[in-house]
Amino acid sequence: MGMWLHCKVTPSKKPFSHVMPGTTALTFGMLGCDYHCPYCQNWLTSQAMRDPASDVSVDFIREMTPQKMVQLAQSTKASVVVSSYNEPLITSEWAVEIFKEAKANGLMCAYVSNGNNTPEVMKYIAPYLDAYKIDLKCMSEKNYRKLGGTLQNTLDGIKRAREAGLWVEVVTLVIPVSMIQIKSCGMPRDSSPSNLWIFRGM
Ligand code: SF4
Repeated sequence: MGMWLHCKVTPSKKPFSHVMPGTTALTFGMLGCDYHCPYCQNWLTSQAMRDPASDVSVDFIREMTPQKMVQLAQSTKASVVVSSYNEPLITSEWAVEIFKEAKANGLMCAYVSNGNNTPEVMKYIAPYLDAYKIDLKCMSEKNYRKLGGTLQNTLDGIKRAREAGLWVEVVTLVIPVSMIQIKSCGMPRDSSPSNLWIFRGM
């Protein structure tokens, strides 16, 4: 028995572009994140136990078994079960319990993550995962530190996910305020292909 805070059924384009397109995904989330991004859309769940304003989130916790979660996926004709909304890496034990049941029933399993993983957690989750989406938030170590992580470990995390044989999609969210900050931090001097591509699109 585990506790799940957020559960939603959506077309599986979200957040993957190339995993079972046109089908449906069941996405669940729990509490907590190792980052504290100021623009977090899911701050109510991700910042639980860190930001007192998010304490209300515990009122919405529901108990759910892996079996019930898979039944829900089947009843909504979902083809993919996704751990997202909070940072799935820090609640991997619960996600793996669901994924074991999901895989036994022929469903694909995926993570939507900040990519701040370790070799140990990748070894633990990879047997149960098919796809792994990673937010590459920027290409600045300084800005990553402000969010609570490091750029290098995210880049290493992307590499680890690929080496584990997972389908990996890397996404950079364009957040106007954040991008302005990146501009003022000297982004034009960072001519990495991803930064230039984002810049041209703004
Ligand atoms: S890593 Fe994701 S879930 Fe965590 S605070 Fe940042 S945006 Fe929110």
